[in-house]
Amino acid sequence: MTIEDRRHMDELVTRRHAIERVAEDLGLKREGKHFYCPACHPGADCKPDLVIKDGRFQCFRCGALGDVVGLVKLARQCDLESALEWLSREIR
Ligand SMILES: [Zn+2]
Repeated sequence: MTIEDRRHMDELVTRRHAIERVAEDLGLKREGKHFYCPACHPGADCKPDLVIKDGRFQCFRCGALGDVVGLVKLARQCDLESALEWLSREIR
């Protein structure tokens, strides 16, 4: 995957506000506007502290933050390459 592809994908994701859908596809549970953070969760008694806004995510509990690719990496515990691969299938 080239840098151009990557840029295109970022645009695609931002434009479609697809990050929320991606979060759901990743199996992140949500409660209202908040998602359960893949890094903090599972902790049965914890509250969802991860917010997704403007194509980026941030967890107010553990401080994890990043773009949609970062979220995929975090949730799937995979490297950049597999995250991009998963995403390109997902947002097609
Ligand atoms: Zn967290």
